[in-house]
Amino acid sequence: MADRTQDRLIRVDMTRQSVSVESFPDKWKRLGGRGLSARILLEECDPTCDPLEAENIFVLAPGLLAGSSAPTSGRLSVGGKSPLTGGIKEANVGGDAGQDLMKLGYRAVIVTGKPADPDLRFGLVVSADEVTVVAADEHKGKWNYPLIEDLAQVYSGKASFVSIGPAGELLLAGASVACTDHSQERHPARHAGRGGLGAVMGSKGLKFFAIEAGGTPARKPVDKNFFQLSKKYTREFVAGPGQEPFPKWGTSVICEEANSIYTFPYKNRVEGRSPDVDTLDGMRIVESFETRGGGMHNCLTGCIVKCSNIVHDANGEYKTSGLEFETLTMLGSNCAIAHWEDVADLDRLCDDVGLDTIETGAAIGVYMDAGGMEFGDAEGAKRLVREIAEGTEIGRAIGNGAVTVGRLKNHHRVPSVKGQAIPAWDPRPLKAAGVTYCTSAMGADHTAGLVVDPGMAPEEFARTSQESQILNAVVDSSGFCQFLMPNIVEIGEFYSTFLGESITREEMADMGWQCLEDEWEFNRRAGFGPEDDKMAPCMAEDVIGDEVKFVWDVPDDVVASAYERFEVREELFEMRPS
Ligand code: SF4
Repeated sequence: MADRTQDRLIRVDMTRQSVSVESFPDKWKRLGGRGLSARILLEECDPTCDPLEAENIFVLAPGLLAGSSAPTSGRLSVGGKSPLTGGIKEANVGGDAGQDLMKLGYRAVIVTGKPADPDLRFGLVVSADEVTVVAADEHKGKWNYPLIEDLAQVYSGKASFVSIGPAGELLLAGASVACTDHSQERHPARHAGRGGLGAVMGSKGLKFFAIEAGGTPARKPVDKNFFQLSKKYTREFVAGPGQEPFPKWGTSVICEEANSIYTFPYKNRVEGRSPDVDTLDGMRIVESFETRGGGMHNCLTGCIVKCSNIVHDANGEYKTSGLEFETLTMLGSNCAIAHWEDVADLDRLCDDVGLDTIETGAAIGVYMDAGGMEFGDAEGAKRLVREIAEGTEIGRAIGNGAVTVGRLKNHHRVPSVKGQAIPAWDPRPLKAAGVTYCTSAMGADHTAGLVVDPGMAPEEFARTSQESQILNAVVDSSGFCQFLMPNIVEIGEFYSTFLGESITREEMADMGWQCLEDEWEFNRRAGFGPEDDKMAPCMAEDVIGDEVKFVWDVPDDVVASAYERFEVREELFEMRPS
């Protein structure tokens, strides 16, 4: 039986299909999740490598507090060099894999190499007793849902799974990494979506991870005050205003509000509002619970927010879950697809094929805008997603993302930064978010530092973007979900009691900044420069808005100033994730 009191890390060499388990280095003690992934990649991965070759590294790194009794703290960071952007990537995901890895004492899984035969498939089975690579050829080409049904027959009833669908096996740059959620059925509905990390996992020949934590208890803190802190935080959160209406009903119910501030993009972003907001709004999903069943749930063990919806069809049968605002926007209004039920079908298809719904929605939007298909053709869009799984020419183009489709169709309007499609939150009304898209090492990624303030003064764009990026780096390193909305001070209190060492709020902010520095440094070594920090030209050309007009007009020097650390001010410590 392994000694769980010692933190460990798993190294997997997929060239030899060998595994070693090592003590977790003391120098990384305060690192978890995104910060740990960034440090591993900076120290061990050649930034100039081909993302789909043996030299790239695929990382699973649970947040520092994952597996503990801190509420909503079990998020998992998936990392690697992105085949979509060519830069460093971290995609953060719920489900139980992060919790289970940490309960077993594994702070990270580092996968290197690739099998000589690309047709072979493998799984990595992680339990308290051993870590083994197993043959998985029988699962080749399986979609995520049937794959998990089959794996659930083999591995214990409490195992959690990390998997890829056909998109990852086809090495497509829009491929996601799926994690099973906390439901009885273990739906593969939580996705580390952005940046094509599913293709990196696929390039290693890995079809799945099975993590068998069984009834392993939660990790123990050094300082018992941690338990009181967790209870107090939970009590105050449940009693407080954070429960109404968001995140009570999840992100899907903010369509109306987003539409009102011109960040509900329509028809490949030529408009900022959709005429179909009423039939896309997630409140229609909430209303369906009464007659169809479904409802809200926690996607990972110990989540007190429970913002994840479970969506049923008209017959009361499960269709999908985790149908978020971003998906309703990018696969809905962005493609002029008018009804949430069609988006629910597309969400299920993307989860099953293993695709980022943001990139896929953006790619289909570009395809429609370029004349490949009529805007609003929901059945055509579903057909396209199926074609991604089949690997047809257009399917592969869509599966490789918006920039690839733009190139294929020689189309001028491709809303992206650093090769990654701009998410729903629009940089024209939300300019500080736009600064994040330009300066984040991740490219256009709202989870890197979203700021929802359309009336912000221009002198605040860079500074607020930077503060939001620091905060989100801290949150994504901790294991806390952004929807819990913890601030840096609160996270610092959890760190201090969990590790048994006093960590100041300034040190917490410095750790967030160091994470950004590590990511930027990786990209610099990969060859990125100021020329890569450009917003897509169409954002400066296509004006949106009615009485008030919005266009991207933030000067380059303002964008660049987000790289220079501003003096830390009180607002940083009070800030919560948007
Ligand atoms: S807040 Fe929502 S997304 Fe986050 S862990 Fe809980 S259910 Fe999952």
